[in-house]
Amino acid sequence: MPRPIIATIHPEAVRHNLAQVQQAVPDAKLWTVVKANAYGHGIENVFEGLRATDGFAMLDLDEAQRLRTLGWRGPLLLLEGVFELRDLELCSRLSIWHTVHCDEQIDWLAAHKTQVGHRVFLKMNSGMNRLGFTPERFRAAYARLNALPQVDEISFMTHFSDADVDHGMDQQLEIFHKITEDLPGERSISNSAATMLHGEQSQVRCDWVRPGIVLYGSSPDFPAHDIAHWNLQPAMTLSSKIIAVQELQAGDSVGYGSKFQAEGCMRLGVVACGYADGYPRHCNTGTPVLVNGMRTRTLGRVSMDMLAVDLTDIPKAGLGSEVTLWGRASNGAVLPIDEVAAAAGTLGYELMCAVAPRVPKVIEGQGK
Ligand SMILES: *Cc1c(COP(=O)(O)O)cnc(C)c1O
Repeated sequence: MPRPIIATIHPEAVRHNLAQVQQAVPDAKLWTVVKANAYGHGIENVFEGLRATDGFAMLDLDEAQRLRTLGWRGPLLLLEGVFELRDLELCSRLSIWHTVHCDEQIDWLAAHKTQVGHRVFLKMNSGMNRLGFTPERFRAAYARLNALPQVDEISFMTHFSDADVDHGMDQQLEIFHKITEDLPGERSISNSAATMLHGEQSQVRCDWVRPGIVLYGSSPDFPAHDIAHWNLQPAMTLSSKIIAVQELQAGDSVGYGSKFQAEGCMRLGVVACGYADGYPRHCNTGTPVLVNGMRTRTLGRVSMDMLAVDLTDIPKAGLGSEVTLWGRASNGAVLPIDEVAAAAGTLGYELMCAVAPRVPKVIEGQGK
């Protein structure tokens, strides 16, 4: 038997989450973001669940190509645009939209020999200072692009730095709309948080929204609201089993650094899951975990291949019992990835992207 750790991907949950976004912004189109191999879930594993989208957005040409191989004929968008001139050939061939955020990308387009009219998203740096033309330089970039025979259609995009904070988007929103006001073309500015928190405003949802994290079952504004509040479902369950049980007396300690000491008699389960599987090492004693679908806590430090959980109040649990590190247990109980991330001082994003290659990924209902 292989080591019992496994990441189960739930295509039905992804489908459900996509429907929640569509419900929140019924008159906007969706660029479903599948960068980082669908936030660690595997593009091939979530594709069927996401088919109802209007388009897919990613960073890598390889990921765009994989979607074409899966049979997707609709829009594809490179969120960082191309990285060199040669990339434009594949964009022409596979009909891929791409972001234009710097002058060099316009130079490459101008030098690109193609019969295919390109569709581009011109990106504004409206304050995040990551990618895009500053508001002052935006219209000059537009004029250059608009003069190129290689370019068929120009749309406009920006990205928020503080979409999950009250009034965090106000300045960026204002400058973006002011500068693009009289330019013809579609607009896209909202990630998951902007879409779910403020998508009822037409200025925020615009023509296209770009949801990522919510599709995978992480709350856009945890801890203010959890996934139950947003009616989202976990797209991934990380599960394993108890592989050993220890009985502790008062004063006994657990794991490296002896970080946990028992105050009385306790039962401890050792789980086949550690930081080499992608479980965060920064989780201290008390991180929530489900054993047989019942909530308990971790004990002591997470080691490379194992961690310890408290079985004192789950007397029926023992060797072979199901452990849910995050996601959905067999009895239906849910442990949101956001809770585990918070215990590690990070975000659901990082955890789902960091599940290690040695953990097999299995689509729910398809076995292995
Ligand atoms: C990753 C990304 C998104 C999606 O963000 P979420 O917070 O996961 O919804 C949207 N737009 C751009 C440009 C991105 O890079």
